Amino acid sequence: MSIETTDVVILKQTPFGETSRIITLLSRDFGLLRGVAKGVRQQSSRLARFLEPLTEVELVLYYYTDRDLHLISKSSELNPFHQLRSNPLRLAHSLVIVEHVLRLLPPEDPSPQIYELLVESLRLLDEGAVNERFVLLAFRVKLLHLLGIAPRLEGCITCGKKLTSRVNIFFPSQGGFICEECPPPWREGRMTERLGERALRVRREVIALLNQLSKGDIVSFGGKTPGGGLLSEAGRLLGFHTNYHLGVNIRSERFLKEAREAYGEK
Ligand SMILES: [Zn+2]
Repeated sequence: MSIETTDVVILKQTPFGETSRIITLLSRDFGLLRGVAKGVRQQSSRLARFLEPLTEVELVLYYYTDRDLHLISKSSELNPFHQLRSNPLRLAHSLVIVEHVLRLLPPEDPSPQIYELLVESLRLLDEGAVNERFVLLAFRVKLLHLLGIAPRLEGCITCGKKLTSRVNIFFPSQGGFICEECPPPWREGRMTERLGERALRVRREVIALLNQLSKGDIVSFGGKTPGGGLLSEAGRLLGFHTNYHLGVNIRSERFLKEAREAYGEK
């Protein structure tokens, strides 16, 4: 056991025993992990208020190398992200981000870059200057890159030619696009036949947007938020790809749709 101090984002709490909670968090130095916070469901607990989901805190941790449950000893607040939690639409988008972290990251595999991406995305949602759908899309693209499972967007995966058609065909099984001049990934027939559930038609502008997002930072786009149609199409491609490669369907997407309907689309 060692005593460690690290920055973390609180992701989730679940009751544990009579008075305690298990806190799931993403830490800068140890990755995704779970820790017990003893006595935090008692009125007198001073630790409780520093363990609210969607806050960034500095934590002192009893870290056990031979266990997957650690002990949280002390905590102090770094970023409370108050605005984010008081706005339903921003909150809904942050919860989808949190679900991505909880379901796509392997436990205790530290990545300071993924940690920074999470904090930066929550900060942007908290400030509210950038459209929340755009923040979420950028987060998803960058996360897949950092996890090493991003779709290939730079050209046809068979011949390498630039994707110049107005609409291009994405194959999740191949992790990228195949142009109409190359043979499809089945034995006979033309590319456009039998696409069905196995492929997705994607506009050129969507590929350009995803490419740009994977390279630049979100703020450099300034106020120029792409239209809702482009964002939806880009989101669909990422969802399709993530589902195929990791077998993960992000459940909170449905909740997000309801939140958008209830609280208005920008
Ligand atoms: Zn090709």
